[in-house]
Amino acid sequence: MDFGWSASQASLYDAALSFAQGKLGGPIVEHEFSHERWTLCSEFGLAGLSAPQAHGGMGLDAQTTARVLEAFGRGCPDLGLLFSASAHLFACVMPIAEHGSEELRARLLPPLASGAWIGANAITEAGAGSDAFALKTRAERVGGDYVLHGEKSYVTNGPVADVFLVYASTNPSDGYLGISAFAVDRGTPGLVIGKPFRKMGLTTAPISQVYFENCRVPAANLVGPEGKGASIFNGSMQWERACLFAIYLGAMESQLERVVDYAVARKQFRKSIGKNQSISHRIVDMKLRLDSARLMLYRACWKADRGEDASMEIAASKLAVSEAAIQAGLDAIQIHGGLGFMEESGIERALRDAVPATIFSGTSEIQRDLIARKLGLG
Ligand SMILES: Cc1cc2nc3c(=O)[nH]c(=O)nc-3n(C[C@H](O)[C@H](O)[C@H](O)COP(=O)(O)OP(=O)(O)OC[C@H]3O[C@@H](n4cnc5c(N)ncnc54)[C@H](O)[C@@H]3O)c2cc1C
Repeated sequence: MDFGWSASQASLYDAALSFAQGKLGGPIVEHEFSHERWTLCSEFGLAGLSAPQAHGGMGLDAQTTARVLEAFGRGCPDLGLLFSASAHLFACVMPIAEHGSEELRARLLPPLASGAWIGANAITEAGAGSDAFALKTRAERVGGDYVLHGEKSYVTNGPVADVFLVYASTNPSDGYLGISAFAVDRGTPGLVIGKPFRKMGLTTAPISQVYFENCRVPAANLVGPEGKGASIFNGSMQWERACLFAIYLGAMESQLERVVDYAVARKQFRKSIGKNQSISHRIVDMKLRLDSARLMLYRACWKADRGEDASMEIAASKLAVSEAAIQAGLDAIQIHGGLGFMEESGIERALRDAVPATIFSGTSEIQRDLIARKLGLG
């Protein structure tokens, strides 16, 4: 067993960290997506970290992709931006790279992997959340096209995306095997984008409803064969649950540094608050949760990179990271006292950004169910 990073992984981490600290460390304008910052991230290669080199990506494996995202999470306080970039990469670019036809890959991947275009994925519906494949959106074959009807909820990047990976039912009676995936270009008539939601966290990641009203999509935009959509979606969630959560590892790392500095500097009763065991032990527990979540995440990525079934390890690492991030957000506020509660301090943002992590990419309850089934309990 080797816990070290290779020289190239280590130098990529250092480069990503200093890039993020140098270029993305400035103040955040809440509720606004920054095209300027997206372009900066894209210049580093964030939009195509794991995308194939042949189509303009960096071709990194899951472990190295996650390590770069961890560096960005540590150096860039704008987690909404990193969430947008990760959703683009894992839930739109990767499924097209892995399942798209040669023609689709050649047309869509270069602008997506370079970040010139923004990608989104649309599966969730009002009646299909955790029960993700209970889709009402229909895609009916009419001549050389499919005609899409339906409504999608909570589409990350919806308001700014150029390409949507949309999941629709092509054959409702076939259930899981009746779902297909389509790449839909933004300008397609019948594709209507809703207004961006106001959210408690990740406010710089724009999220909206997306509507399909008699939306004609060429059959050539089918991603993978008809009926393969559910399996394509599951594959994209493996990428997302394994790698995206590394941004929270980085954020927790810088949060821990800040908490330690504060616990040393802040004096009450003529001594540093960190000299009280109730504070120092709370910080030690933050460190324990971060380190164990990190080990779980990289074990999951390592197993996935070996081509082994990593679904249990990925679900466990998603759970561990997201739940650690929420607890760390609460701990950081408590240790900073009143200051931690004030928006100006920037301390409370970590909690707001962490709360949705136990919901998107499959809720904590669904991850526990998945692990329970793997243990032979369901
Ligand atoms: C920030 C954010 C970004 C998102 N981005 C996207 C996106 O880009 N594209 C997209 O398609 N979707 C996206 N989503 C939607 C997301 O995937 C869903 O919100 C999620 O799958 C949960 O579905 P739901 O909200 O309908 O909750 P529900 O499924 O209704 O769940 C409500 C509660 O019931 C629990 N529950 C449900 N079923 C069970 C069960 N069988 N056993 C135990 N508990 C259960 C859940 O765990 C949860 O606590 C995003 C969501 C968020 C918050």
